[in-house]
Amino acid sequence: MSTHLHSPSLRLEKVRGDFPALHQSVNGRPLVYLDNAATAQKPEAVIEAVSSYYRTDNSNVHRGVHTLSQRATDAFEAARANIARYIGASSPKEVIFTRGTTEAINLVAFCFGGTRFKKGDEVIVSEMEHHSNIVPWQMACERSGAVLRVIPVTDSGELQMEAFRALLSERTKLVAVTHISNSLGTINPVEEIISAAHEHGVPVLLDGAQALPHCSIDVTALDVDFYCFSSHKMFGPTGFGVLFGKEHWLEQLPPYQGGGDMIKVVDFAGTTYNDLPHKFEAGTPHIAGAIGLSAAMDYVSGVGFEFIANQEKDLLLYATGRLKAIDGLVIVGNAKHKAAVVSFNLGSAHPYDVGTILDKFGIGVRTGHHCTQPLMKRLGIPGTVRASFSFYNSRAEIDQLELAVRKAAAMLL
Ligand code: PLP
Repeated sequence: MSTHLHSPSLRLEKVRGDFPALHQSVNGRPLVYLDNAATAQKPEAVIEAVSSYYRTDNSNVHRGVHTLSQRATDAFEAARANIARYIGASSPKEVIFTRGTTEAINLVAFCFGGTRFKKGDEVIVSEMEHHSNIVPWQMACERSGAVLRVIPVTDSGELQMEAFRALLSERTKLVAVTHISNSLGTINPVEEIISAAHEHGVPVLLDGAQALPHCSIDVTALDVDFYCFSSHKMFGPTGFGVLFGKEHWLEQLPPYQGGGDMIKVVDFAGTTYNDLPHKFEAGTPHIAGAIGLSAAMDYVSGVGFEFIANQEKDLLLYATGRLKAIDGLVIVGNAKHKAAVVSFNLGSAHPYDVGTILDKFGIGVRTGHHCTQPLMKRLGIPGTVRASFSFYNSRAEIDQLELAVRKAAAMLL
């Protein structure tokens, strides 16, 4: 990199130039995209990798002897190897491709819960989980007679770790918690959670949907048993994601769905299942999704976590300070360790009304319960307005946000 790009503002300008969708007007104003926790924008490198695959290599994988099929298979499996490397998995066999975090959690709930939960067993989740890390476990509990136990959160939005430790017992079969809260930005003490659970011989699933875009993940160093994430929040294509599972767990679990690719031999007398990772991947996969996510990971590596961490820390501090200064605005979620997410409410104004006004100023934020209704109930609010930042956002955009929130306050309060 040339030396002038060492300046953070020039680097930011360059990085923003990589994301075509950022450069447009919405409602006559330059777009300010602050809905990154819902989905992130895509850099040219990802768009190009996906379109180049469709332009030149498009074919089905694993089944053809012809050149295009071999090229598609090579690209698909190279993507898996790259993704495995990126998250620190010890082998590509531990990387199962799914439709996203939701499907990855459902897979574990179905396959692990279906074979290992019995009446009276317990599954621990937390009060701050996304619905996709609650409902699959409720369904697994309904099927097995197991019981869901819930780690409470504090008023500032942190897990009550003493309460968590007290919940662990010989009845606990699994702990499933989020790495980073999508509604509040809380970064949970996942190392502590994993070591406490492992002391009781209990495996841990982490919902990494919000963590992958913000920090470097090493599943082997974490010693986590299952780790789930979505490509689209990580600057890759939608409808694609990953379940990392320790090989010994994945070997023990039955398949999730039946169909092509997950078998070795099918006979009416019985079917032999394929080896990992294919045992869990029935049917034609999202080939372009894998290629796109791999390209996204290369892109993020190029940007570098030092820049990402500095930039996001600055945005979080700056946005918190600017928004706090607005009369009637209350920030929801004040954990000590937070990702670049600011959830807030404006007096008694409904979050939806605030979000609608912000959109008129070209600002995209998310409003509502953020798929965390139990957390909203615990906090006694119907929802929040959530501004979630990525490394490509700027202080100037936060100034625009502040201005628009002040206008919303003048109209609604
Ligand atoms: N978990 C968390 C913490 C999330 O933020 C989300 C999406 O918002 C999900 C799970 C579900 O992800 P997906 O819809 O990509 O499956």
